Amino acid sequence: MQPTRARSALIAAALLAMATLLAMATASEAGIDALSTSRGFDVVHYEATIEPNITAKTVAGHVRIRIRLLAQRQETIEFDRGELTIDAVNDGASPLTFEQLPRRLRIRLPASRTRGKTHTIDIDYHGAPRFGLQFVPERSQVYTIFSTSQWLVCIDAPDERATLDLRIVLPAGLRVVGNGKPLAGQRRADGDVIHRWRQDRPVSSYLFGFAAGKFAEATARHRSVDVRYLGETLTSDDLGRAFHDTPDMMKFFEERAGVPYAAGRYTQTLVASTAGQEADGFAMLSDAYGRTLLDTPTAVTLAAHEVAHQWWGNLVTCRDWTHFWLNEGFATFMAAAYNEHRFGRAAYDRDIETARMRYEQVRQTGGDKPLVFPSWDRPTASDRTIVYQKGAYVLHQLRETLGDGAFWKGIRDYTRRYAGQSVTTEDFKRAMEVSSGKDLRAFFAKWVYLSQSP
Ligand SMILES: [Zn+2]
Repeated sequence: MQPTRARSALIAAALLAMATLLAMATASEAGIDALSTSRGFDVVHYEATIEPNITAKTVAGHVRIRIRLLAQRQETIEFDRGELTIDAVNDGASPLTFEQLPRRLRIRLPASRTRGKTHTIDIDYHGAPRFGLQFVPERSQVYTIFSTSQWLVCIDAPDERATLDLRIVLPAGLRVVGNGKPLAGQRRADGDVIHRWRQDRPVSSYLFGFAAGKFAEATARHRSVDVRYLGETLTSDDLGRAFHDTPDMMKFFEERAGVPYAAGRYTQTLVASTAGQEADGFAMLSDAYGRTLLDTPTAVTLAAHEVAHQWWGNLVTCRDWTHFWLNEGFATFMAAAYNEHRFGRAAYDRDIETARMRYEQVRQTGGDKPLVFPSWDRPTASDRTIVYQKGAYVLHQLRETLGDGAFWKGIRDYTRRYAGQSVTTEDFKRAMEVSSGKDLRAFFAKWVYLSQSP
């Protein structure tokens, strides 16, 4: 993920919920997303139909959200709606009263709704997203860029995991990638095609997404995982060459994580323009980067960063954006570790030195901050350097402190322990302490929780 201004709304929402975090510690033990308790409900499943109009740059959608009520008395519930306009909210056949607050949808629940039960709510909406959904009419492309609530009414917070059944309606002739497993498509009477994807493993909604375009396709294999490469400006042969290292990346990260890749398919997708982003089960990279990969086979860092997110970010997710370094510092460090495996120790050392220098520039100008980042609302360039480069550099320091054996065993224990969960920095610290038998309080106090003066 390369964060953008567009994410600030959901980040702000996550920050607001921070105050309740400590009280929620036991909820995650019970298998309920920590902050769900403060929301009063847990989202179990989304079933959505999205109709993007690529030419008009608009979207219409319907989502059926299955929730489990957690609070004793719950009169209203709220979802994130970005800048979408809500047309109707229904409970089966009967309409529910709703209110459109800034970026939020508040729904009044019937008194009959009881705790512990699951309920479904149907929501119709439309909009002309300025971000979150990228329309490229001249290329017949449309793809998502993180801010999920700009195209799907949902809980747009990293601690809330749910499954997704997504139908995407598009003109014929486009290839689509979505989360999880592709299901049989269907042609509508008007000629449009309904593409269908199902995500069976609960993931955070910022990892929901899709990309559609006139893509060429190449395929590869990693164990029983179906690996695919999509892009419009490269031929199928060139896609295969550009992404040649992907199965090796998956194998390497599986070994480092101690957890096999969680899904049956992984897709590297080249779209018109993006800084690079991970979704669950696929990544989106730019056409320009695809050409760079083809010309310079050693330029795999960004592709490896996005593959690494399938474990650190997607499988083990920061509980809120204050712990974002657990996603981004990890992916940045793991890409360097992949370069070490692929090209030798000197490549790793170069990556770590680059991270150290970029962090050092920020520190020298007084811009250092703790890694547990208190104000990830409108991040500056130096804030990103803290989360990405300082984060990677601190993991390197931890590797040096513990030694390779203890460090990588700790990473495996941490990843296995928290697979499928949302975590805080303390969870990571504890896992590394238990695994190594070392007291890491001084290390974390210095490198993670404090900033260094210039
Ligand atoms: Zn990232």
